Amino acid sequence: MHSCIPSHFRVFYRRTAAGKPLCYRSMPRLSFIRIFGSEKSVSTAINNAAEYRTIEDDIMTNYKDLGLVNSKELFKKAVKGGYAIPAFNFNNLEQLQAIIGACVETKSPVILQVSSGARKYANSTLLKHLAKGAVDYAKELGCAIPIVLHLDHGDTFELCKSCIESGFSSVMIDGSHHPYDKNVELTKQVVEYAHKYDVTVEGELGVLAGIEDAVSSAVTHYTKPEEVEDFVKKTGVDSLAISIGTSHGANKFKPEQCTKSPDGVLLPPPLRFDILEEVEKRIPGFPIVLHGASSVPVELVKIINANGGKMKDAVGIPEDQLRKAAKSAVCKVNIDSDGRIAMTAAVRKTLMENPAEFDPRKYLGPARDQLKSLYKHKIINVLGSNDKA
Ligand SMILES: [Zn+2]
Repeated sequence: MHSCIPSHFRVFYRRTAAGKPLCYRSMPRLSFIRIFGSEKSVSTAINNAAEYRTIEDDIMTNYKDLGLVNSKELFKKAVKGGYAIPAFNFNNLEQLQAIIGACVETKSPVILQVSSGARKYANSTLLKHLAKGAVDYAKELGCAIPIVLHLDHGDTFELCKSCIESGFSSVMIDGSHHPYDKNVELTKQVVEYAHKYDVTVEGELGVLAGIEDAVSSAVTHYTKPEEVEDFVKKTGVDSLAISIGTSHGANKFKPEQCTKSPDGVLLPPPLRFDILEEVEKRIPGFPIVLHGASSVPVELVKIINANGGKMKDAVGIPEDQLRKAAKSAVCKVNIDSDGRIAMTAAVRKTLMENPAEFDPRKYLGPARDQLKSLYKHKIINVLGSNDKA
């Protein structure tokens, strides 16, 4: 219907009594809009917003209509309360069931996190309905926990905009691989758009090593504490991911970077709490985010390898270090690889023990149960977000 209208025209319309859209268009320079044959000012039409909608409004799904919340209040409470909100990645039904089940049973708020790869995998229309379904499912299970739908590692303005238009309540714009000024510019652009719709934005300073979906870096670039104040002020971001030695993926460190515990477990170099403290000093009370914070549970890796898997030299971040971080200004901890490992361990074990099985529910069910118990453990013993919903 609007394909003939140049993009710089703002389109207003209202519906007839029969519900059919009557289309009118305005040119900003002329400052008028043709309404039912008469001419009225654009401001009149805008003031009458309940009656007139723009095309932008019409194609947009606001997260509030899905029953979601943004992260603002959750982070405020988490920083004050000395705990962190779990950000669990998902792209399918069983993961979502496990996440909501674990969070309802522990009464934890939750950030449902989707990478651009996961969005492509699951389909953005389905995701929107899955997120709304998650809100209703939590209520049905007996606790209307606060749920955020968040884009993980958005790399362009367009991707962030598209997510906001399809119901995300929070987005990350990761400009950390750009030079500082370009990172500021890109992040600011996303913040200006997102805040129009009350959507919260996470930025990043410093680069994590490791590989996760489309994000990868061979080496760590620690966050420079002297940049954080300027970055937060110039961009207006709501939270900041920093690099203090966590790392993406399951193979976070090479064995030669690690020491060995008495029982032969590889221990990574400790997190740089000195950088975290320096950041906190410069932006007191500002919400900090940790990526690459999977612990890579040894017992699950053992199950995978005992059942035909080949996960070699997998090393994670010890949970006591994450617990310590969660008590500080760190108020969001991303957990993705641990969930993948938990599901894979259960699928491998089930299929190995039942080689004749071919009903996906028979191996995805145990995978979902394993994931749920891992998430409950994270919430209660690592993040401390239980009973905070
Ligand atoms: Zn990340």
